[in-house]
Amino acid sequence: MIIKNANVITCDDQKRIIPNSIIFIGNDGRIESISDSKSTDINPAQANEAYDAHGQYLMPASICAHTHFYGAFSRGMYIPGEAPDAFPAILEKLWWKLDKSLDEKANYFSAMVCIIDAIKHGTTSLIDHHASPNSIPGSLDVIARAIEESGIRASLCYEVTDRDGNERTQQGLEENLRFIENLRDQKENRLSALFGLHASLTLSDATLTKARELCPQNTGFHIHAAEHVVDEYDSIKKSGKRVIQRLNDFGILGEKTVVAHGVHIDAKEIGLLAESGTWLSHQPRSNMNNAVGLPPIESMINAGVKVCLGNYGFSNSMWQEWNAAYLAHKLINSDPRRMPADLIYQMAIINNRELIKTLFYGLEIGVIKPGAVADLVLVDYKPFTDLNSDNLPWHIVFGFRESMVTSTIVNGKFIMKDRGLTTLDEEIIINEARNISASVWNKYQALF
Ligand SMILES: [Zn+2]
Repeated sequence: MIIKNANVITCDDQKRIIPNSIIFIGNDGRIESISDSKSTDINPAQANEAYDAHGQYLMPASICAHTHFYGAFSRGMYIPGEAPDAFPAILEKLWWKLDKSLDEKANYFSAMVCIIDAIKHGTTSLIDHHASPNSIPGSLDVIARAIEESGIRASLCYEVTDRDGNERTQQGLEENLRFIENLRDQKENRLSALFGLHASLTLSDATLTKARELCPQNTGFHIHAAEHVVDEYDSIKKSGKRVIQRLNDFGILGEKTVVAHGVHIDAKEIGLLAESGTWLSHQPRSNMNNAVGLPPIESMINAGVKVCLGNYGFSNSMWQEWNAAYLAHKLINSDPRRMPADLIYQMAIINNRELIKTLFYGLEIGVIKPGAVADLVLVDYKPFTDLNSDNLPWHIVFGFRESMVTSTIVNGKFIMKDRGLTTLDEEIIINEARNISASVWNKYQALF
């Protein structure tokens, strides 16, 4: 396929923006070349498909380092009784009852509605963290089916926890292991797996030991840490150690492990994340919504922690997360110099794509250059000021909107073309999701 008349935002090492280009994508889904539109090197007749971008921007699709497809049906849901006064109450009243209300069908459709949202808003690689305590065995296969059908890319895991009794702890451990082993034989490169753990505060020493024993050495973990300060106090009470130290001592950290949040970690814990090469995913919208505070992201990056950007399932527009990060750190520090947009670029573009490369078989995703995988979006953005390599991150924060995404490409194939989904029937899925979400809401209300 060729895409012509595109203004290409490469996100390569030189951060080149190449106007009026032709990009050639091979049948293997990899970018073969980028040329000037007047170039005679490329003969459009050689391509089996030629798409005219009409001057839109073509750029790498967004990547999300931490999300929860299972939370989709919380949208608009009534939470009975008094409003939760802090994050532990939000867990008890919302998430730990919503997850118990999910069955196989609900797992599938809550994933599907998030996937549609992601495709329409230009996010094509997501790292999901799943929970459905009343439907654990096979739950990752159900979500994998939604990933396969949609054409999107995702890393999946099941969050192991001790909060629902031994049997479910065991089921969670087995579900991770089963899914990781099944993926070994897959030829498809759009699925990968991590070993999911909920958080230190719901995991005993025995369960952490078992998880470490079961998880293959070449697979990482995906876990929440110090999202609220109770996680730190719980860890100190259980072990005399802070959360990251406790996880490190059980062998949970490492170059393939993703830790979400880290809002309340101290300098020593930051050092442990940096030394172990562990990824830290930042979700500012979620942190603000749960009123848990904000992690010291700039200090973490200065200390050498590989900080990525996730969305917690809030919405799958990563540019909204950019915007929240840009604003939140300025407000909390009362300093407009904090969290410049190029630091967000470092997290959301550079670090997120390095994480995806680590989890997805060494694939180069998230950059436009020969040899990289063509996971791309077309953006109908018409800047009224100069857009260049230096100010791109600020244009993304202040100018780019998810509604400007008109086409989404994964592995060189359109999964949304001119705003029409090519792999999924949105109307059928949304109608079915509305029916299923009604029964999820009924089950949820019955738990009070
Ligand atoms: Zn999370």
